[in-house]
Amino acid sequence: MARTQLHRAMAGEITPAMRRVAERETRKPEYVREQVADGQAVIPNNHAHESLDPMIIGQQFATKVNANIGNSDTTSNLQGELRKLHTAVHYGADTVMDLSTGENLDEIREANVEHSPVPIGTVPIYEAVKRAKNPTDITHELLIDIIKKQAEQGVDYMTIHAGVLMEHLPLTDGRKTGIVSRGGSILAQWIEENGMQNPLYAKFEEICEIFAKHDVTFSLGDGLRPGCLADASDEAQFAELETLGELTQVAWDHGVQVMVEGPGHVPMDQIKDNVERQQDMCDGAPFYVLGPLVTDVAPGYDHITSAIGATEAARAGAAMLCYVTPKEHLGLPDKEDVRDGLAAYRIAAHAADVATSLPGAQDWDDALSEARYEFDWRRQFELALDPERAQAYHDQTLPGDNYKDARFCSMCGVEFCSMRIDQDARDADGKMTAIDDETDLAVSSAADVNLPPVGTHDTSHVPEEIEIDGVTFTPESHADD
Ligand code: SF4
Repeated sequence: MARTQLHRAMAGEITPAMRRVAERETRKPEYVREQVADGQAVIPNNHAHESLDPMIIGQQFATKVNANIGNSDTTSNLQGELRKLHTAVHYGADTVMDLSTGENLDEIREANVEHSPVPIGTVPIYEAVKRAKNPTDITHELLIDIIKKQAEQGVDYMTIHAGVLMEHLPLTDGRKTGIVSRGGSILAQWIEENGMQNPLYAKFEEICEIFAKHDVTFSLGDGLRPGCLADASDEAQFAELETLGELTQVAWDHGVQVMVEGPGHVPMDQIKDNVERQQDMCDGAPFYVLGPLVTDVAPGYDHITSAIGATEAARAGAAMLCYVTPKEHLGLPDKEDVRDGLAAYRIAAHAADVATSLPGAQDWDDALSEARYEFDWRRQFELALDPERAQAYHDQTLPGDNYKDARFCSMCGVEFCSMRIDQDARDADGKMTAIDDETDLAVSSAADVNLPPVGTHDTSHVPEEIEIDGVTFTPESHADD
């Protein structure tokens, strides 16, 4: 039987995927192997996903970003989904989850796997709902059938909400927003109507065997995650997390790679504790968080409210961030939303990597800052997180080629460009001259360099007098202001 990256790492083997990951992250292959063997990192890599360029998710590596795409009953089709996949990869998604719930699920999933260089994730319970029509009619056999088929299709990781147990459900009574995870709410309804334990929990070992065969990575879903600040860090959320910790061990015993999903909506001051609890309860399995949103009051801007929380979560140890788009809570994202959501989350991930001193992370910032100070506009665009947007914004006001090495932009204008002024204020060796009481300013070279450069203060075109509402202003009248 083909073995998983975890099996092989535990056996001391450095696989081609580990070598590739080491190259991408500038780490030693042996270090990658150790991290995978210890369950501290995962390389989602289904044997059937041939177009994949392997990547790694773990606290010790660069923070990764996932983009969700997928159709719904009302919008999108195969072409539209492939365009979204392309947009997501183009704007820097490290993994893509296909959350389709509309028509042609198999066709869309297969096309995504075939064309995607990044790992593809799914949530099999969505397909089960489509096939059973009524969620309460989902059977154990149907779930296993769907999971097996998706594993054969090449899906690299699947969200499995196996931690939503019947004994946890009453703990959600009294919440402001109940159960907000789609998978969690479907399973809760199933459990209540059928009076039986969560089928994903009951069949967990069987799912482990399927995952081990194809090397599918678990993304243990947080079906009871809080859907608003008021519900954050409650008993239901942490009871489920405890179960996810137990299931992590079961999966590892089967040689299956595991990451664990986290909330949701969490006030800023509780995020660090949430991450540390997960690390503790799940023995360091990579934490994959959705946001979290740090306030509930900004629909239309939730890529921002959640990117703030995501930065804090990644700084505290989360390994992958699931992006949120401006359409969150409002509608299905389109191409522009995917772009905006990804930009917000790549900023969050990178800001956290800089803050945690990930080796080499700040080199990017330093290179861009140098280009900025040198007024090397082309290099600045090239290095920008979203080069097309950076250039488009610049060129809106200064489109000509002659402005690509101009010592200003339209933000402050030529006269007030602080970087130009700073450079002109320095000596030829780039140093400021120290001025003290004893410096003779009359002979100081600083006195010369501080003179406004020729041409920038040309006032010859300014009229001597201007008239506003019948009142004439002259240079003298301004002196009276
Ligand atoms: S004009 Fe202002 S924003 Fe533009 S380059 Fe100069 S200092 Fe920077």
